[in-house]
Amino acid sequence: MLDLAIIGGGPAGLTAGLYATRGGLKDVVMFEKGLPGGQIMGSSEIENYPGIAHEVTGMELMEPWPEQCMRFGMKHRMEEVSRVSKNDDGSFEIALSGGEKVAAKSVLISTGSTPRRAGIEGEEKLFGKGVSTCATCDGFFYKGKEVAVLGGGDTALEEALYLANICSKVYLIHRRDTFRASPITIEKVKNCDKIELILNSNVKEIVGDMMGVTGVKIADKDGNERDLEVPGIFVFVGMNVNNQILKQKDGSELCDLDKSGNIIVDLKMRTSVKGLYAGGDIRVDAPKQVVCAAGDGAIAGMQALEYVND
Ligand code: FAD
Ligand code: NAP
Repeated sequence: MLDLAIIGGGPAGLTAGLYATRGGLKDVVMFEKGLPGGQIMGSSEIENYPGIAHEVTGMELMEPWPEQCMRFGMKHRMEEVSRVSKNDDGSFEIALSGGEKVAAKSVLISTGSTPRRAGIEGEEKLFGKGVSTCATCDGFFYKGKEVAVLGGGDTALEEALYLANICSKVYLIHRRDTFRASPITIEKVKNCDKIELILNSNVKEIVGDMMGVTGVKIADKDGNERDLEVPGIFVFVGMNVNNQILKQKDGSELCDLDKSGNIIVDLKMRTSVKGLYAGGDIRVDAPKQVVCAAGDGAIAGMQALEYVND
């Protein structure tokens, strides 16, 4: 029986493990299906994490976290969790994708979010063949070439700027004429002569052949169409929360969610189920920032410690 099972090893999960083990919990395991670090590992530039005065990549930011957070005894199991459910005695059952089941006195859900697909014709078929959701991973393939970016949030604009350093031109396609991104990022994009803004427009189709993407078909809100001959398109249209592990065999959810699937928590990261905590991007009203996810993790770790000790 684990004291605390942490599901997801991003900033929230790692920090929760640090606080719980440093506070004295003995059997703490973080189930992370990949390498610890979370989605920020795919980001090309971070300049808003306090204490890091210069711009760093996501990998650089997260590189020291696992060592520090596991120093006090937290273990990492590279496993995917398929379901979390509650046992009759108040403990939890963690079902792993491989079939194994693990029991825990308390659980933190910190599974974060993953990039959303835009649902454009050709997007799914050409995903990984010119359609990407990670500029850091795939940008280099388009060195000196023209690419398209879809979206108007922080991710789309920041990644467009990153791509502008590698590519000859970046077409930034957004369905409105105002952006969701922060003003400082919008300013940088507007001042970048390698970025052409295509506003009030959407991508109707991503076209390609056996080799991959060859172009995109765009339509503006008046129905005017335009074709761009680009070998790559980066889709940054928001994130979906990873809440699938809460689904019970009878179709109900383990704890209360809002209508977008975010886990409802109070200020102590407590969910509607005793001993079950949630933090980071998965929780309701998450600011979706590394520093906030880490803060949630710290609170959840301390709460789990108190709960198990009680
Ligand atoms: P995540 O980082 O999403 O980590 C969740 C982890 O859970 C993942 O590693 C995943 O593999 C794992 N997982 C999911 N499901 C399972 C399962 N079933 N079993 C086991 N493991 C599972 N924030 C900033 O503060 N500054 C920035 O500059 C910034 N830039 C960003 C740029 C990009 C491109 C993106 C995508 C995000 C950016 N963010 C930024 C937001 C930031 O990355 C997130 O707010 C933060 O990573 C959330 O942390 P988390 O711990 O909640 O979840
Ligand atoms: P987001 O803020 O939700 O923005 C998604 C963008 O995609 C919006 O502009 C939206 O248009 C557009 N969009 C959505 N569905 C679309 C579709 N089907 N077709 C075309 N366009 C579509 O998502 P995000 O940029 O990934 O950011 C997620 C969160 O992480 C945010 O809270 C963000 O602030 C945070 N984040 C922070 C940083 C940072 O602090 N530096 C960096 C990255 C991300 P509309 O605007 O018209 O809705």
